[in-house]
Amino acid sequence: MKDVTVIGGGASGLVSAIYAAKAGAKVCLLEKNNTCGKKILITGNGRCNYWNSDQSITHYHTRNKEVLEKILQKDYSKEVLSFFNSIGIIPRIKEGYFYPTSNQAVSIQTALIKEAQINHVEILTTTEVISIKKENHIFKINTNNGIFTSKKIILATGSKAAPKTGSTGSGYDIAKSLGHSLITPLPALVQLKAEAPYLKEWHGIRADVKISLFENNKYIDSKVGEIQLTDYGISGICTLCLSGRAALSLSKKQKTDVKINFLHQLNIHDKNSFLNFMEARNKTVKNRNIADLLDGILNYKLVNLILKQSKISREDNWNNLSNEKKYLLGDNLTSFNLSITGTNSFDQAQVTTGGIPLTEINPNTLESSKTKGLYLTGELLDVDGDCGGYNLGFAWISGIIVGSNIKGEDND
Ligand SMILES: Cc1cc2nc3c(=O)[nH]c(=O)nc-3n(C[C@H](O)[C@H](O)[C@H](O)COP(=O)(O)OP(=O)(O)OC[C@H]3O[C@@H](n4cnc5c(N)ncnc54)[C@H](O)[C@@H]3O)c2cc1C
Repeated sequence: MKDVTVIGGGASGLVSAIYAAKAGAKVCLLEKNNTCGKKILITGNGRCNYWNSDQSITHYHTRNKEVLEKILQKDYSKEVLSFFNSIGIIPRIKEGYFYPTSNQAVSIQTALIKEAQINHVEILTTTEVISIKKENHIFKINTNNGIFTSKKIILATGSKAAPKTGSTGSGYDIAKSLGHSLITPLPALVQLKAEAPYLKEWHGIRADVKISLFENNKYIDSKVGEIQLTDYGISGICTLCLSGRAALSLSKKQKTDVKINFLHQLNIHDKNSFLNFMEARNKTVKNRNIADLLDGILNYKLVNLILKQSKISREDNWNNLSNEKKYLLGDNLTSFNLSITGTNSFDQAQVTTGGIPLTEINPNTLESSKTKGLYLTGELLDVDGDCGGYNLGFAWISGIIVGSNIKGEDND
């Protein structure tokens, strides 16, 4: 019988197994894929953005902020970075985003597997855990390869995002069978869907914008960055960062809209500042029609679409436009309203928002308050992060917390 059995050989499972083994426990890791860390390979477009120098808690999201604050009260930067250094990963840092210098996610995956092997973690792949029972202080783990027993369990099965990598949400049912509740998992860091007649027309346009999310016309949050306009709606990092909150609003059947400011880069924030800008531009750039005035600052296809939406022809002259049309144009350029009808599915999502509530674990050890000897890590928990290395960041941190706190003795 093992001291500790880790279920799931992803980011948090590998790190928790390594730390538990280093602390002296006999550790076994059960992974259903034929190799560990399959999801790590597709992170950061195959380059693995594994950390961010800005570890402010505002980059992490949960329904139980107070517990999360307790979990993250210690600064784990030094520990995480010296761990990666010790397994051979030298960071290449770009605007605070950490990647391996090799620029290949496979470097992180192999370094973690190697470190687990060196520390005598017994890794059993193609072993899928079907159910777990606790009888007489011992966990009985039922798998496709037979029954295993263990004194303690680390449940590190991930979420429902990108199920082709192995995280199909099976850990939610296992946690529920051991007494936990579940905050409905929803896709996050995912594209947003809309229904509008112009979607085909704007497909393929990229623009640097400010995008703001509204629930029932109430402002929720905004992000600045590149947006991609697509035939199903919108994508791009700033969209993805708002998507978890949008998914929550949609799940509550609330009216969900985004407003896009296409002129954010020029510090034009509303129709009045747009009017001032255009009056000045019309004087500087003489003898030009309205399209000429906009073409120099916006994508050509976007200019056509916004003019059409504002019922203005490309050949119209700024001086001849009614104030009503000038304001409408200003509104459409600084506050373009798009009604959101849904998100893309878990297949396209990078993470899941929701999961096992943080109120059901001890914030110092991540041990379950429902079943003694059960520990939970990573995305299985109700924590999701912004783009930028925060999700792997939480996977490493939670793995370190559990692995360093778990001990091999019997439990009640
Ligand atoms: C396309 C994409 C890009 C991403 N890019 C980044 C990035 O650049 N930076 C970043 O910080 N985050 C990124 N993420 C998110 C990050 O990969 C995850 O948050 C992180 O991997 C979660 O770690 P985890 O240990 O909780 O789960 P996972 O890494 O998903 O591991 C769970 C493991 O458990 C196994 N498993 C599940 N159920 C069972 C079972 N019943 N029995 C046995 N094994 C089981 C799975 O096969 C899997 O190997 C990205 C995600 C995706 C999908």
